[in-house]
Amino acid sequence: MEKLLSGKTALVTGASKGIGRGIALKLAEAGAHVAFTYLSSVEKGQALEAELQKYMVKAKGYRSDAADFKSADELVNQVVADFGTVDIVVNNAGITRDGLLMRMNEEQFNEVIRTNLNSVFNITKAVQRPMLKQRSGSIINISSVVGVKGNAGQANYAASKAGIIGFTKSVALELGSRNIRCNAIAPGFIETEMTEVLNQDTVKQWREAIPLKRGGTPEDVANCVLFLASGLSSYITGQVINVDGGMLT
Ligand code: NAP
Repeated sequence: MEKLLSGKTALVTGASKGIGRGIALKLAEAGAHVAFTYLSSVEKGQALEAELQKYMVKAKGYRSDAADFKSADELVNQVVADFGTVDIVVNNAGITRDGLLMRMNEEQFNEVIRTNLNSVFNITKAVQRPMLKQRSGSIINISSVVGVKGNAGQANYAASKAGIIGFTKSVALELGSRNIRCNAIAPGFIETEMTEVLNQDTVKQWREAIPLKRGGTPEDVANCVLFLASGLSSYITGQVINVDGGMLT
Protein backbone atom coordinates (compact mmCIF):
# COMPACT_ATOMS: atom_id res chain seq x y z
CA MET A 1 0.00 0.00 0.00
CA GLU A 2 1.26 3.49 -0.88
CA LYS A 3 2.08 5.49 2.24
CA LEU A 4 2.41 9.27 2.71
CA LEU A 5 6.23 9.23 2.28
CA SER A 6 6.72 6.10 0.16
CA GLY A 7 9.88 6.33 -1.95
CA LYS A 8 11.21 9.42 -0.11
CA THR A 9 14.53 9.58 1.75
CA ALA A 10 14.82 11.51 5.00
CA LEU A 11 17.91 12.59 6.94
CA VAL A 12 17.36 13.29 10.66
CA THR A 13 20.18 14.68 12.81
CA GLY A 14 20.47 13.72 16.48
CA ALA A 15 18.12 10.75 16.45
CA SER A 16 19.66 8.44 19.06
CA LYS A 17 17.05 9.54 21.61
CA GLY A 18 14.28 11.97 22.45
CA ILE A 19 12.53 14.00 19.77
CA GLY A 20 14.89 12.95 16.95
CA ARG A 21 14.26 9.29 17.66
CA GLY A 22 10.49 9.89 17.60
CA ILE A 23 10.83 11.72 14.28
CA ALA A 24 12.91 8.94 12.67
CA LEU A 25 10.35 6.31 13.72
CA LYS A 26 7.40 8.41 12.51
CA LEU A 27 8.95 9.07 9.08
CA ALA A 28 9.81 5.38 8.64
CA GLU A 29 6.27 4.40 9.64
CA ALA A 30 5.06 6.74 6.88
CA GLY A 31 7.19 4.82 4.37
CA ALA A 32 10.34 6.99 4.12
CA HIS A 33 13.84 5.55 3.99
CA VAL A 34 15.67 7.03 6.98
CA ALA A 35 19.28 8.10 7.39
CA PHE A 36 20.00 9.50 10.84
CA THR A 37 22.90 10.73 12.96
CA TYR A 38 24.08 10.63 16.54
CA LEU A 39 27.27 11.70 18.25
CA SER A 40 28.00 9.98 21.58
CA SER A 41 25.12 7.50 22.05
CA VAL A 42 26.52 4.75 19.81
CA GLU A 43 24.50 1.87 21.31
CA LYS A 44 21.25 3.81 21.16
CA GLY A 45 22.01 4.70 17.54
CA GLN A 46 22.56 1.05 16.68
CA ALA A 47 19.36 0.08 18.51
CA LEU A 48 17.36 2.62 16.49
CA GLU A 49 18.82 1.33 13.22
CA ALA A 50 17.61 -2.16 14.16
CA GLU A 51 14.19 -0.91 15.29
CA LEU A 52 13.58 0.98 12.04
CA GLN A 53 13.88 -2.27 10.05
CA LYS A 54 10.37 -3.28 11.16
CA TYR A 55 8.93 -0.66 8.82
CA MET A 56 10.51 -2.41 5.80
CA VAL A 57 12.39 0.72 4.74
CA LYS A 58 16.10 1.30 4.25
CA ALA A 59 17.56 2.70 7.48
CA LYS A 60 21.09 3.61 8.47
CA GLY A 61 22.66 5.46 11.39
CA TYR A 62 25.84 7.54 11.04
CA ARG A 63 28.07 8.74 13.83
CA SER A 64 28.67 12.33 12.75
CA ASP A 65 29.15 15.71 14.42
CA ALA A 66 26.60 18.07 12.85
CA ALA A 67 28.45 21.04 14.37
CA ASP A 68 31.53 20.36 12.25
CA PHE A 69 31.26 21.81 8.74
CA LYS A 70 33.50 19.26 7.01
CA SER A 71 31.89 16.27 8.77
CA ALA A 72 28.41 17.49 7.83
CA ASP A 73 29.44 17.83 4.19
CA GLU A 74 30.98 14.34 4.17
CA LEU A 75 27.89 12.93 5.88
CA VAL A 76 25.52 14.27 3.23
CA ASN A 77 27.77 12.95 0.43
CA GLN A 78 27.76 9.54 2.11
CA VAL A 79 23.97 9.55 2.55
CA VAL A 80 23.50 10.45 -1.12
CA ALA A 81 25.91 7.65 -2.08
CA ASP A 82 24.03 5.16 0.13
CA PHE A 83 20.43 6.24 -0.53
CA GLY A 84 20.58 7.95 -3.94
CA THR A 85 19.26 11.34 -2.77
CA VAL A 86 17.80 13.27 0.17
CA ASP A 87 14.23 14.55 -0.06
CA ILE A 88 13.57 15.53 3.56
CA VAL A 89 15.97 16.93 6.15
CA VAL A 90 15.19 17.38 9.81
CA ASN A 91 17.78 19.49 11.61
CA ASN A 92 17.08 18.30 15.15
CA ALA A 93 20.48 17.85 16.89
CA GLY A 94 20.75 20.15 19.88
CA ILE A 95 22.18 20.65 23.35
CA THR A 96 21.73 22.91 26.37
CA ARG A 97 24.44 24.44 28.58
CA ASP A 98 22.26 26.50 30.91
CA GLY A 99 23.41 29.26 33.23
CA LEU A 100 22.73 32.90 34.02
CA LEU A 101 24.62 35.33 31.83
CA MET A 102 26.63 36.40 34.87
CA ARG A 103 28.10 32.90 35.09
CA MET A 104 28.00 31.78 31.46
CA ASN A 105 31.46 31.51 29.95
CA GLU A 106 32.51 31.90 26.32
CA GLU A 107 32.85 28.14 25.82
CA GLN A 108 29.27 27.46 27.02
CA PHE A 109 27.97 30.12 24.65
CA ASN A 110 29.98 28.98 21.64
CA GLU A 111 29.32 25.27 22.16
CA VAL A 112 25.55 25.79 22.08
CA ILE A 113 25.67 28.11 19.07
CA ARG A 114 27.91 25.69 17.17
CA THR A 115 25.81 22.61 17.93
CA ASN A 116 22.36 24.14 17.58
CA LEU A 117 22.83 26.80 14.89
CA ASN A 118 26.02 26.12 12.89
CA SER A 119 24.80 22.52 12.49
CA VAL A 120 21.65 23.75 10.72
CA PHE A 121 23.78 25.85 8.33
CA ASN A 122 26.23 22.96 7.77
CA ILE A 123 23.63 20.32 6.92
CA THR A 124 21.31 22.64 4.97
CA LYS A 125 24.17 23.95 2.83
CA ALA A 126 25.21 20.39 1.97
CA VAL A 127 21.69 19.10 1.17
CA GLN A 128 21.04 22.03 -1.14
CA ARG A 129 23.04 20.18 -3.81
CA PRO A 130 20.85 17.08 -4.22
CA MET A 131 17.67 19.09 -3.61
CA LEU A 132 18.52 21.70 -6.28
CA LYS A 133 19.36 18.90 -8.67
CA GLN A 134 15.98 17.21 -8.21
CA ARG A 135 14.15 20.55 -7.83
CA SER A 136 12.31 19.51 -4.68
CA GLY A 137 12.86 19.13 -0.99
CA SER A 138 11.53 19.83 2.48
CA ILE A 139 13.84 21.16 5.19
CA ILE A 140 12.50 21.19 8.74
CA ASN A 141 14.46 22.90 11.51
CA ILE A 142 13.77 22.25 15.18
CA SER A 143 13.79 25.58 16.97
CA SER A 144 12.10 26.19 20.35
CA VAL A 145 9.54 28.48 21.98
CA VAL A 146 12.59 29.76 23.89
CA GLY A 147 13.88 31.17 20.58
CA VAL A 148 10.67 33.18 20.27
CA LYS A 149 10.21 34.45 23.84
CA GLY A 150 13.64 34.03 25.52
CA ASN A 151 14.29 32.29 28.86
CA ALA A 152 16.31 33.30 31.89
CA GLY A 153 19.34 31.03 32.18
CA GLN A 154 19.28 30.11 28.49
CA ALA A 155 20.70 33.16 26.65
CA ASN A 156 22.96 30.89 24.58
CA TYR A 157 20.18 28.41 23.76
CA ALA A 158 17.60 31.16 23.02
CA ALA A 159 20.06 32.92 20.69
CA SER A 160 20.72 29.66 18.81
CA LYS A 161 17.00 28.88 18.47
CA ALA A 162 16.10 32.45 17.40
CA GLY A 163 18.93 32.22 14.86
CA ILE A 164 17.33 29.09 13.42
CA ILE A 165 14.10 31.02 12.79
CA GLY A 166 15.88 33.79 10.82
CA PHE A 167 17.87 31.18 8.92
CA THR A 168 14.70 29.21 8.08
CA LYS A 169 12.86 32.24 6.70
CA SER A 170 15.88 33.31 4.61
CA VAL A 171 16.39 29.85 3.12
CA ALA A 172 12.66 29.63 2.33
CA LEU A 173 12.97 32.90 0.36
CA GLU A 174 16.12 31.75 -1.46
CA LEU A 175 15.00 28.25 -2.41
CA GLY A 176 11.24 28.62 -2.90
CA SER A 177 11.56 29.10 -6.66
CA ARG A 178 13.26 25.69 -6.85
CA ASN A 179 10.38 23.98 -5.04
CA ILE A 180 12.44 23.52 -1.88
CA ARG A 181 10.47 24.38 1.25
CA CYS A 182 12.01 25.31 4.59
CA ASN A 183 10.02 25.52 7.84
CA ALA A 184 10.73 25.49 11.56
CA ILE A 185 8.99 23.87 14.49
CA ALA A 186 9.10 25.53 17.90
CA PRO A 187 8.41 22.85 20.52
CA GLY A 188 7.41 23.92 24.01
CA PHE A 189 8.11 21.63 26.94
CA ILE A 190 8.69 18.13 25.52
CA GLU A 191 9.55 15.45 28.09
CA THR A 192 12.87 13.85 27.05
CA GLU A 193 16.34 13.23 28.53
CA MET A 194 17.05 16.93 27.87
CA THR A 195 14.33 17.90 30.37
CA GLU A 196 14.97 15.07 32.87
CA VAL A 197 17.71 17.15 34.51
CA LEU A 198 15.21 19.86 35.49
CA ASN A 199 13.92 20.36 39.02
CA GLN A 200 10.69 18.28 39.36
CA ASP A 201 8.81 21.06 41.21
CA THR A 202 9.58 23.43 38.34
CA VAL A 203 8.40 20.80 35.86
CA LYS A 204 5.12 20.45 37.77
CA GLN A 205 4.57 24.21 37.67
CA TRP A 206 5.28 24.25 33.93
CA ARG A 207 2.78 21.49 33.24
CA GLU A 208 0.12 23.42 35.16
CA ALA A 209 0.87 26.62 33.21
CA ILE A 210 0.39 24.88 29.83
CA PRO A 211 -3.19 25.29 28.50
CA LEU A 212 -3.34 21.59 27.54
CA LYS A 213 -2.09 20.73 31.08
CA ARG A 214 0.68 18.33 30.07
CA GLY A 215 4.19 18.24 28.70
CA GLY A 216 4.54 17.23 25.06
CA THR A 217 5.86 13.91 23.75
CA PRO A 218 8.38 13.31 20.95
CA GLU A 219 5.43 11.98 18.94
CA ASP A 220 3.61 15.33 19.23
CA VAL A 221 6.59 16.96 17.48
CA ALA A 222 7.04 14.06 15.05
CA ASN A 223 3.43 14.41 13.84
CA CYS A 224 4.11 18.03 12.87
CA VAL A 225 7.34 16.98 11.13
CA LEU A 226 5.38 14.38 9.16
CA PHE A 227 2.96 17.08 7.99
CA LEU A 228 5.77 19.46 6.95
CA ALA A 229 7.73 16.64 5.27
CA SER A 230 4.78 15.50 3.17
CA GLY A 231 2.83 16.92 0.27
CA LEU A 232 0.05 17.82 2.74
CA SER A 233 2.02 21.04 3.40
CA SER A 234 3.02 21.68 -0.22
CA TYR A 235 2.01 25.39 -0.07
CA ILE A 236 3.68 26.11 3.29
CA THR A 237 7.20 27.54 3.54
CA GLY A 238 9.08 30.00 5.74
CA GLN A 239 6.80 29.31 8.71
CA VAL A 240 7.36 28.53 12.38
CA ILE A 241 4.81 26.16 13.89
CA ASN A 242 4.57 26.06 17.68
CA VAL A 243 4.04 22.58 19.10
CA ASP A 244 3.64 23.68 22.69
CA GLY A 245 0.22 22.77 24.11
CA GLY A 246 -0.72 26.44 23.83
CA MET A 247 2.22 27.66 25.95
CA LEU A 248 2.88 30.76 23.83
CA THR A 249 -0.79 31.69 23.46
P1 NAP B 1 18.03 14.98 23.68
O1 NAP B 1 17.13 13.92 24.22
O2 NAP B 1 19.13 15.49 24.53
O3 NAP B 1 18.64 14.48 22.28
C1 NAP B 1 19.53 15.28 21.56
C2 NAP B 1 20.02 14.53 20.34
O4 NAP B 1 20.96 15.36 19.63
C3 NAP B 1 20.77 13.25 20.70
O5 NAP B 1 20.44 12.25 19.76
C4 NAP B 1 22.25 13.65 20.52
O6 NAP B 1 23.08 12.55 20.14
C5 NAP B 1 22.14 14.61 19.38
N1 NAP B 1 23.29 15.51 19.25
C6 NAP B 1 23.75 16.41 20.15
N2 NAP B 1 24.82 17.06 19.66
C7 NAP B 1 25.04 16.55 18.40
C8 NAP B 1 25.96 16.81 17.36
N3 NAP B 1 26.93 17.74 17.51
N4 NAP B 1 25.90 16.12 16.20
C9 NAP B 1 24.93 15.18 16.03
N5 NAP B 1 24.01 14.89 16.98
C10 NAP B 1 24.06 15.57 18.14
O7 NAP B 1 17.19 16.28 23.26
P2 NAP B 1 15.66 16.45 22.79
O8 NAP B 1 14.89 16.93 23.95
O9 NAP B 1 15.21 15.26 22.05
O10 NAP B 1 15.82 17.69 21.78
C11 NAP B 1 15.90 17.53 20.37
C12 NAP B 1 15.81 18.90 19.71
O11 NAP B 1 14.59 19.54 20.11
C13 NAP B 1 16.93 19.86 20.14
O12 NAP B 1 17.30 20.68 19.05
C14 NAP B 1 16.27 20.70 21.22
O13 NAP B 1 16.89 21.95 21.36
C15 NAP B 1 14.87 20.80 20.67
N6 NAP B 1 13.85 21.14 21.66
C16 NAP B 1 13.64 20.33 22.72
C17 NAP B 1 12.65 20.68 23.66
C18 NAP B 1 12.36 19.83 24.85
O14 NAP B 1 11.57 20.28 25.70
N7 NAP B 1 12.89 18.63 24.99
C19 NAP B 1 11.93 21.86 23.49
C20 NAP B 1 12.20 22.67 22.38
C21 NAP B 1 13.15 22.28 21.47
P3 NAP B 1 24.06 11.80 21.20
O15 NAP B 1 23.23 11.42 22.37
O16 NAP B 1 24.57 10.66 20.43
O17 NAP B 1 25.11 12.82 21.55
